[in-house]
Amino acid sequence: MTTTSSQVAVIGGGIGGLAAAHRLARHGVQVTLLEAGDQLGGLGTFFPYRDRWVERFYHCVMPTDSDLLRLLAELGLEDSVRWRKTTMGMVVDGRRHRFNSALDLLRFTPLRFHERVRFGAVSLLLRRLGRGRDLDTLRTEDWLRGLYGRRVWEELFAPMFGSKFGSSFGDVPALYLWQRLGRERNVATRGYPVGGYKAIIDALRASIEDAGGTVRTSAPVRRLRSTPDGSSLTLSDGEVLDAGQVISTVPLPMLRRIADEELASLLPRTELSYQGVVTGAFFLRRPLTGHYWTPVLRSDTGFDGVVEMSALTGPEAYGGAHLVYVMRYTDRGSRLYARDVEDIAARWTAQLRNLFPELTPEDVEEVRVFKAPFVEPVYPLGYLARRPPTTVDGTTLRLATTAHVYPDVTSWNSSVKLVNDVTDRVLDRIPTGTSPRSRPRSGGRPTRPRTARGAG
Ligand SMILES: Cc1cc2nc3c(=O)[nH]c(=O)nc-3n(C[C@H](O)[C@H](O)[C@H](O)COP(=O)(O)OP(=O)(O)OC[C@H]3O[C@@H](n4cnc5c(N)ncnc54)[C@H](O)[C@@H]3O)c2cc1C
Repeated sequence: MTTTSSQVAVIGGGIGGLAAAHRLARHGVQVTLLEAGDQLGGLGTFFPYRDRWVERFYHCVMPTDSDLLRLLAELGLEDSVRWRKTTMGMVVDGRRHRFNSALDLLRFTPLRFHERVRFGAVSLLLRRLGRGRDLDTLRTEDWLRGLYGRRVWEELFAPMFGSKFGSSFGDVPALYLWQRLGRERNVATRGYPVGGYKAIIDALRASIEDAGGTVRTSAPVRRLRSTPDGSSLTLSDGEVLDAGQVISTVPLPMLRRIADEELASLLPRTELSYQGVVTGAFFLRRPLTGHYWTPVLRSDTGFDGVVEMSALTGPEAYGGAHLVYVMRYTDRGSRLYARDVEDIAARWTAQLRNLFPELTPEDVEEVRVFKAPFVEPVYPLGYLARRPPTTVDGTTLRLATTAHVYPDVTSWNSSVKLVNDVTDRVLDRIPTGTSPRSRPRSGGRPTRPRTARGAG
């Protein structure tokens, strides 16, 4: 059996794991990152299309993503984000509407005239109306139904936000929506990095390796043992990694599966159900909606929304093709999730063409379908008080997962913010003088990596 050791092991090579390993390595800590898949990036990972790399799941940066933007600056990528004003559409009962200005709202026929006026007024005040209220223990349905009225809830919000959290959306704390409105308060402006998210992932890998850290793909952790004295990670029957401390970024149900019996008994008891997602990426020969985001309500489609990525990036990002994602958030045990990807691609292509009859079969160049089983928990009421801590008593394990970012919205930004905090605590427990390189004090500015080298 081979046994290696590392001061800190990081489980998971999504943005959380990469940002954690980058920060530790830049502080002189001997760090090893282990990713189960053959590519880094987690939910932000990519696939090849022509001569470029495209995200499996649509991603954009918001101007309010300050922690992520700070990380990009550290990587020398601060100028790589291209910002653009984007617009929003809405499809209801198969009919398309614009949904951006007061005039659009006044013309929005799915609502009655007085409902449109109330909708506009309440939406303008919504963030202010939530301030100072205990929204964590208030059901979203109770909050929105009270403010907007029964019909707006039933006709618009229930199907729209229900598509994200399934039938329990009404029960999700109103705080989630309030925070989301805060992140998207400048809803028109979004950003996308030149070279796509892979450019950020590659730069993080290069930074970790330049600072002496190790990044391994196709290295699933199969067993994890953690005591107050250290942790041990079994990678395969023949390989074990001993680590002084461990940061796990994998969703809690997956962590439970790899924890040994003793650790499993110490893990947070919070029972959370998670939403997964199915997306279809359509490469088209023509633009579709012109809007970045278009929720699709009651229109006989298996998907709930359309994101036209090329409305943000321009078709040049995809060699001239227009990239449109359609998506449905769903439980990993659902019938849709179990369906074959080719079957989903065929059904969703037919449905998209039904919705947009101007789209000819020749306009659809390529369709790819992707699934992810754990996107984020369906946060229960009062989750602030029940949120599991990032420490696990009696171990050297720390947790930094989407179950911990609440009330922040699940995003690259919130993962970076979370791991900044978790790595601070990890650094505090590393005695100075024990690392092979001199370690700047926590919060010290890490050195900039030399170059971003190819990764995959
Ligand atoms: C459809 C969709 C759209 C989104 N849009 C945006 C957006 O526009 N902007 C934005 O900022 N965010 C967006 N997000 C959210 C964002 O992708 C996530 O919040 C973020 O990627 C979470 O990162 P993470 O590192 O915490 O987890 P993950 O990305 O889930 O990473 C966890 C990693 O752990 C690995 N792993 C699991 N088990 C093991 C094991 N046993 N051993 C080793 N490794 C293991 C997994 O393979 C994975 O790579 C979107 C997500 C989805 C699904």
